[in-house]
Amino acid sequence: MSKHRIKILGVPFDPVTEDEAVTKINEQLLNPAGRLFIATPNPEMVLEAQKNTELREILQGTNLNIPDGIGILWAADYLETVKNLKSVILKVLLGLFSLPLIFFRSKKTDSGTGPNNRRVLPERVTGSDLMQSICKKAIPSARIFLLGAAPTVAAKAKVKLEKKYNCTIVGTDDGAATPDNYYNLRELINSAEPDILFVAFGAPKQEIWLARNLAHLKSVKVAIGVGGAFDFVSGAVKRAPHIFQKLGLEWLWRLFLQPSRIRRIYRATIKFPLTVIGASGKSGKHPN
Ligand code: UDP
Repeated sequence: MSKHRIKILGVPFDPVTEDEAVTKINEQLLNPAGRLFIATPNPEMVLEAQKNTELREILQGTNLNIPDGIGILWAADYLETVKNLKSVILKVLLGLFSLPLIFFRSKKTDSGTGPNNRRVLPERVTGSDLMQSICKKAIPSARIFLLGAAPTVAAKAKVKLEKKYNCTIVGTDDGAATPDNYYNLRELINSAEPDILFVAFGAPKQEIWLARNLAHLKSVKVAIGVGGAFDFVSGAVKRAPHIFQKLGLEWLWRLFLQPSRIRRIYRATIKFPLTVIGASGKSGKHPN
């Protein structure tokens, strides 16, 4: 992207809206050269990238990283605010006081001159929202492949997506029996000749799989790890009501449905912001 990338704990993010990302994807689909490898990192993934070197390098090498999580938007704003501050105490206080405010801010950028336009990263885009936006707005000739999720889920998601968006899904596979059987999956995908590949193995498995396999997937021009997107679209897992999404409380809804996610939620809502504040205080400069 031409716009400046924003680094959070060493992971770069692109300041693009969902619409701008789809435009970029359509440009790539029309361009015979090159391809886009897209990730939608959330706070948990950024933390994982601190200890998982392979994941960190992958996220530093993707073509587009779009923030999935208001914690990432908060971190970008916070780091920009404190970048020239010398006082560690002030940085820590600003961090702690700014955190609760994230629930009261709009999750989308204003088109006018509103205060949200001062936000460093314009909006949160989940893998699930991005996938649906692409299915709706991609150029009509785009051929899509769905890889991942539990058996039958991708096939159910195909039926729903084709009905809702009139898009063309040329193949599905859960990949579950053989996620590491690279050769078979590559053959399967290559024979379907998709332009767009959505991979739902969960993070960081999907990003690692894509990094290791993308070069062998000849037809694929756009590849994205989409986490639990097929589960939501197929109806296998119910997405949070809109009000939860708007308030940035989707994690709370998912905790009700899947209490086993408690550790992941602790990492996203408590450990991640404290790590960002700690890193900014410790280094005395932007923790890139
Ligand atoms: N999954 C998979 N293969 C695996 C592990 C997970 O296909 O080896 C699927 C799982 O069925 C689910 C998705 O990956 O559909 C990950 O969902 P999760 O909710 O963990 O992702 P998130 O949206 O939190 O990144």
